[in-house]
Formats: sequence, structure tokens, C-alpha cells
Amino acid sequence: MTAGVFSYSAVLMGSPILLKLFDDNPTLARHVFQLIKQQENLFTVNRAESEVMSVNHAAGRHPVIVSEAVFALISVAHAVSLLPDSAFNFTIGPIVKRWKIGFQGRAVPPAPEIASLLKLTDPHQVVLNPADRSVFLQQPGMEIDLGAIAKGYIADRVQAFLRQQGVQQALINLGGNVQTLGSPPHEPQGWGIGLKKPFGRDDELLGVLQVQGKSVVTSGIYERYFELDGRCWHHIFDPQTGYPLDNELLSVTVISDRSIDGDIYTTLLFGMGVEQGLAYLADQPDIDAVFVTRDRQIICSSPQHFHFQQLDVDWQLRY
Ligand code: FAD
Ligand code: MG
Ligand code: MG
Repeated sequence: MTAGVFSYSAVLMGSPILLKLFDDNPTLARHVFQLIKQQENLFTVNRAESEVMSVNHAAGRHPVIVSEAVFALISVAHAVSLLPDSAFNFTIGPIVKRWKIGFQGRAVPPAPEIASLLKLTDPHQVVLNPADRSVFLQQPGMEIDLGAIAKGYIADRVQAFLRQQGVQQALINLGGNVQTLGSPPHEPQGWGIGLKKPFGRDDELLGVLQVQGKSVVTSGIYERYFELDGRCWHHIFDPQTGYPLDNELLSVTVISDRSIDGDIYTTLLFGMGVEQGLAYLADQPDIDAVFVTRDRQIICSSPQHFHFQQLDVDWQLRY
């Protein structure tokens, strides 16, 4: 391990949070965790009260005025959800709540129920009014869920806060959503970020990504899932069907400057699959990705912004 590293941990947003600094600064760490907590309080849909929940509670009844931060993040989520063939849909809430994957009471819902809940997931039925920062869900029962974007946004907020505090080298991991500042001292090749072996033990890695000042976000089907009838039912849903996305992918990792982009792109690329995803990335010079597939391949898009060191040779690495 790097000399002089100080690690601070917490559990927030239902996720293990890890902060690495190169000064022993518990006060700064406390401020970072407070910032995350404050953001969680705005965005969570896992409690009865938050700004996002107040929008959900008023669905089909009236618009709700929200804070600047919440309006800004909802606006981004809305725009991404309206992209052609987008696998990202921030009105997926009724589906997420019904499946309860990662929570008590998880179950495969009856197909007719999924079909009727899908009618409540049309992002065109969200009315955003920048003039008064209000959000209106037009149908009763509609629910916003920012689970696929909020951690990325919050990781960027933490990075900006640390920079403001004069920190030049740090890492924040919000449970699979990593954002970094600089490189660790005496390690010019950057931060080593482990790529987990899907369904493996916590310490089993396919390899290590080396990045400097970049965000690394992974979405996988092996973190939140349950098994039933020989199938893995995981938490990334196909907005067209209301069932977990079912393709060749086990995970997608995105390397980008902003963690919000990493969070958005992992979901978009998950929906595209490998070949379409690689073609899409060819036009996105600032975004790199690593796809991990069921047939044991690790596929890197042209790695401009990272170096990948393979550790598990049972998997085939290709570019
Ligand atoms: P990503 O792949 O980035 O996103 C998957 C998540 O996005 C799903 O869990 C779902 O919420 C949503 N989603 C699914 N399909 C789609 C789709 N097609 N388009 C758009 N969104 C989709 N977990 C707990 O166990 N307890 C908590 O109290 C809790 N509180 C949280 C509070 C906040 C503010 C946030 C951001 C997350 C919280 N979580 C909590 C975790 C949350 O439930 C999700 O599991 C987590 O955000 C998923 O992150 P990911 O990076 O693993 O997955
Ligand atoms: Mg995420
Ligand atoms: Mg995401």
C-alpha cells in the first residue's frame, strides 16, 4: 500500500463509502461525510422524506418546487432519459420499487403487473419548469429514481469540495463510484483501481485500472441481485420490458473526467451491449470503458485515459 495513506470509511446511501487522503485529517473526512449525507437527504427514495420524494408524493396532483441542485440533476436525468433508444430512464421508480432488488421482499412480479407499472415510466410525462424550478409528474403513481446518476453527481461534489480545501491527492469511493484527485505521492502511474471478478470474492480481481485524476464507475449485475429458477435477477432494468437487462454483459466500467458522466454512461452502455457500445464510444473521445462479458472476455475501448493490468489470466483481454 502507498505510504502515508489515511483511509476513512462510513456507510451512507446503503453503500460502503471510502475516503483516502494523504494527511491525517479526520475533521476533513467528517466534512466530506456530512456533505454526502446532506446530498443523500435531497435525493434518496429509500426514505419517506426527501426533495425527490416530495415530487413523487405529488405525482398526478401538483408540481413541486425543488432546490437548484435537485432541479439541475433531475434536468440532466430527464435529458438522458429522452435520448433515442436510451436504456437510462429516471422514471423507472415504480419498477424498481416493485422488484425490491437489494431490499427485503424482493420477488419476480407477475408479468401483467410489470406491464401496468411500465405505463408509469414515460419520461415525456415529466414537466420541468426552469422559471420556478418546479417538477411535475403527470400521472399518479409515477416515481423518479436517481439511483443510476446521483452517486456520480455526489462524487463530483466531493471532488470539488476537496479541491476547494486545497487537497491535491485523494480518492473517494461511493460503493462502485470512484472519483480521484491527482495521483498518490510517488506513484506517477496513478491510482490503482481494482476491477472485481463478477460473482467472485471481494478480493478477487480481474485486473487493475491505473488512472490519474479520473473517475472510474462500475455497474454490474453481481452486486445487487437474487437468484431464482436458475436466473440472476439484478437491479439494472430494461426500461422497455421492466425486467433486468439481459445481454452478454456482467459489468461495464467507465473512465471519464466527471463521475456523473461515468454513472450515466455505465447505464447507457449496459443497454447497448459490447458491439454497439464500442461503436458509440468511438465518437466519445473523453469516455473510455471496460466491458466484462459472460463468456469471460474483458474488452477495453481505446484506452486513452487509463492503463489496464490484467491479473486473472482465465479471462481473455481484448481491445
Ligand atoms: P447503477 O447501475 O448506477 O444504477 C442502478 C440503479 O439505478 C438501480 O438500483 C435503480 O435504482 C436505478 N435503475 C435501474 N434501472 C435503471 C434504468 N434503466 N435507468 C435509470 N435508472 C435505473 N441502497 C440501500 O440499500 N439503502 C439505502 O438506504 C440507499 N439509499 C440511497 C440513497 C441515494 C441518494 C442513492 C443515490 C442511492 C441509495 N442506495 C441505497 C443505493 C441505490 O438503491 C442503488 O442501488 C444504487 O444507487 C445503485 O448504484 P450502482 O452504481 O450500483 O448502480
Ligand atoms: Mg452508479
Ligand atoms: Mg449508473
